[in-house]
Amino acid sequence: MPRMPSSRPDGLKCDQRLVVEAIAYRRTCNPPLLSLEALGKINVTAWLYLDELGVKRVKVNPNITIVQIREEFGRAPTRDAETGIHSEGIAAQFFKENQRFRVLQIFSERIPCKKMCAPMLNHYFSGVPWFYYYDRASWHGNEGELIKRAGEALKVAYGL
Ligand SMILES: [Zn+2]
Repeated sequence: MPRMPSSRPDGLKCDQRLVVEAIAYRRTCNPPLLSLEALGKINVTAWLYLDELGVKRVKVNPNITIVQIREEFGRAPTRDAETGIHSEGIAAQFFKENQRFRVLQIFSERIPCKKMCAPMLNHYFSGVPWFYYYDRASWHGNEGELIKRAGEALKVAYGL
């Protein structure tokens, strides 16, 4: 069972569909994005929104395209999800271009970065709560130990 993500503001309940869709995305990618390396390199975001008929839907995307993901795994293991175009930025662009959709919740495996994504989300999606698993400063494993690497943190979060 995946863990319940942390929330900002505190104490909110993430719609579990977001977590389910995010891990389903990782499982169904070709190649599947479930290795420690893939968990570390790719950040998946899932947004809950209301469509024009009032139906709740989920939009999932990684920080880079699937073509880039394939290329990425041929490279030296130096880059990670902190570099390049961030998944939240890609999702935000989609919802800016599709204003008929109303965003209700934003789940990102990693807490939106302080430099770019956090200010952008606060500006364009103010009042929409965030949910996330990994925060570099405060991730604890099942034994209470501090985990510094995103890949290991996500393994625990998803129960992989
Ligand atoms: Zn970011």
